Amino acid sequence: MITFEKEKCNRCGLCMKDCLGGTIVRDEAGYPTIPEPEFCIDCGHCYAICPQGAVNFHGRSAEGTFNSPLPPPEQMEALLKQRRSCRFYKPDPIAPEKMEKLKEILH
Ligand code: SF4
Ligand code: SF4
Repeated sequence: MITFEKEKCNRCGLCMKDCLGGTIVRDEAGYPTIPEPEFCIDCGHCYAICPQGAVNFHGRSAEGTFNSPLPPPEQMEALLKQRRSCRFYKPDPIAPEKMEKLKEILH
């Protein structure tokens, strides 16, 4: 579920523009609202783009999520070039704490 914190929101409209399905609309006061949440595809774009950290994604506040420094350009380039999708899986079990961390990141 996506919710918006009015105290933080400056009504810039970026979340509405970035919501490809047009799920986010302005209310009478110009704040974002989602009148039909069943059309939200949980892509997280609104959460990621909000410059005010005013979007909560399934109870997760943006606070502290997007303020870590990004890798420098050369590291980012190397990361993107080396990125591979995993098509064959090893039979090794995954440690529960690793699985929990992955779930936390992906949620
Ligand atoms: S998560 Fe995606 S689909 Fe849902 S409201 Fe945000 S931008 Fe729109
Ligand atoms: S992007 Fe953030 S600040 Fe801008 S309208 Fe949406 S919730 Fe408000």
